[in-house]
Amino acid sequence: MSEKVVILGTGPAGYTAAIYAARANLNPVVIEGDEPGGQLMLTTEVENFPGFPDAVMGPDLMESMKKQAERFGAQFVFGRAQTVDLSHRPFTIAMDDGTSYETDALIISTGATAKLLEIPGESELIGRGVSTCATCDGFFFKDKRIIVVGGGDSAMEEATFLTRYASEVTIVHRRDTLRASKVMQERAHKNPKIRWVMDATPVAVESADNRVTGLTVRHNQTGETETLATEGLFVSIGHRPNTEFLAGQIKTDGVGYIITNGLDTATNIDGVFACGDVADSRYRQAITAAGSGCKASMDVERWLESRE
Ligand code: NAP
Repeated sequence: MSEKVVILGTGPAGYTAAIYAARANLNPVVIEGDEPGGQLMLTTEVENFPGFPDAVMGPDLMESMKKQAERFGAQFVFGRAQTVDLSHRPFTIAMDDGTSYETDALIISTGATAKLLEIPGESELIGRGVSTCATCDGFFFKDKRIIVVGGGDSAMEEATFLTRYASEVTIVHRRDTLRASKVMQERAHKNPKIRWVMDATPVAVESADNRVTGLTVRHNQTGETETLATEGLFVSIGHRPNTEFLAGQIKTDGVGYIITNGLDTATNIDGVFACGDVADSRYRQAITAAGSGCKASMDVERWLESRE
């Protein structure tokens, strides 16, 4: 049996699309993905989502969105879409457990995933001192030294958060100016536990007994290398859109973000819509993702009606 609409991915975009589609009686099937709830599951307080003057915890906000979608009949499926066939309708979605779904319309809201430095030592030490999620792993570094790599808002936010646990936090950035917004920079600069190593490129993660012991950096001005001792390394250098499973079937930009129509959420494939971070390299906020999820669902509704 073919579904009317399948939604791939469950961040603010997917959940909002599910709420709208369920209320429009489209009986959406929502594939939860690798990380149900998406990136907000990895944050603590969200202070800029309208309606929460005293902030809301990221996981609580996601749980509420899911419950709201379930209340109107959205059906959630645990698991990951391994491949999709968009060459003809109904589209086919093959799941990692061997099951599959057919659908007339598809909403892609698979978000984006943390990038790695791709330097020696890094990947083999994930979970042994290397992390991409301060909220998940900060607790393990009580009274230890931590390095945060990156110069954007995420790096400032994670470094500031990690000072709750660490004895000191060193921010390592590859340029001599930060990318982060002024307010986030100021917050980090005011924190007495944060040190700065600017204009330095990470070259290798050092270890002993299978645990992180340091990060070797090259100082860009002098070309000299230095190993900074640390027990924890948090890589906070941005995200990559989760579009690999599409295997080039949809138009994306050079980085892999899905290109939508502009005014609406339609992609270059009739019946396929995209919303949230997977189609947004610019704003990447929970509220903009939620807004685009609403748009995608309304676009699907109109598209289905136009075919009746
Ligand atoms: P971002 O703005 O893309 O910043 C990534 C940082 O990592 C940049 O400073 C970049 O250096 C550095 N970097 C990238 N690749 C690197 C590599 N291979 N080696 C070393 N450094 C590398 O990403 P983000 O900080 O995750 O933020 C993403 C978006 O979310 C932004 O729009 C941000 O404003 C937003 N955000 C907002 C909040 C908030 O308001 N509470 C919190 C977090 C994120 P260069 O500067 O040299 O390119």
